[in-house]
Amino acid sequence: MNKTVVVTGASRGLGLAIVQAVLASDYNVIAMSRAASDQLTSVLEDVGERGAFVPLDMRDADAIAATSRDIVRSRGPIYGLVNNAGIGTDGVLATLHRSDIEAVLETNLLGPILLTKFIMRSMLASGEGRIINISSITATTGFHGLSVYGASKAGLEGFTRSLAREAGRRHVTVNCVAPGYMETAMTAGLEGDKLESIRRRAPLGLPAPAEAASAVTYLLSPSAAKVTGTVLTVDGGSTA
Ligand code: NAP
Repeated sequence: MNKTVVVTGASRGLGLAIVQAVLASDYNVIAMSRAASDQLTSVLEDVGERGAFVPLDMRDADAIAATSRDIVRSRGPIYGLVNNAGIGTDGVLATLHRSDIEAVLETNLLGPILLTKFIMRSMLASGEGRIINISSITATTGFHGLSVYGASKAGLEGFTRSLAREAGRRHVTVNCVAPGYMETAMTAGLEGDKLESIRRRAPLGLPAPAEAASAVTYLLSPSAAKVTGTVLTVDGGSTA
């Protein structure tokens, strides 16, 4: 029987590419975001019972608990969890509203921690599992206007390392994938000279979402059974 992988932020961008890559690697997928896009719906229609959409707002702690319980009950043990949903509100800290700061930290850090807490119970019980957190090179490089976003991603990386130690004995691995700049809805506002200078910094060219998604399917694969607590960077060499 195919193993099941939960992917958050599945409606577009990197999350949609991860759903496609996970399905192509013969896993079943539970795709989550607040709403399904036409593209996601069409991808899931093509695979029938191997794919399902489950709506979830990563800022709603009660819904995270209830939805996790429901999917484990209805879909059986969960093999993989890809915490990909994220927002990238930018602005200099001194003028950022507290509500914007909370939105970034809840969506990018608190929500993934809570979802992991509930979903990983199924992994610990079955004695295998893969947790993959989508970070960003911003966690380590810094970027003007992204201090809170950078804090959320650095938080995810710290979370990953300690949880890897906690879960390893039950054969549950915990890793991050840290993409560099990718052209998605999140980065649509970046253009002109700023975009050119980001492009120039990547000797291999900037990664497409499908190229970052390949790092996720590697971490899900049997070949990655002994890889845990790491950050796999996919940035075309920008930070080399
Ligand atoms: P995107 O195109 O804006 O997609 C973001 C996804 O997250 C959407 O599916 C969105 O779905 C979901 N989402 C946002 N808020 C949510 C909430 N409150 N609850 C549930 N789902 C929510 O962004 P992307 O570029 O694909 O980014 C995906 C991940 O890659 C993020 O973690 C991001 O930080 C990371 N990343 C991106 C880049 C880049 O250059 N693009 C670089 C490094 C890392 P709904 O709006 O339908 O809920």
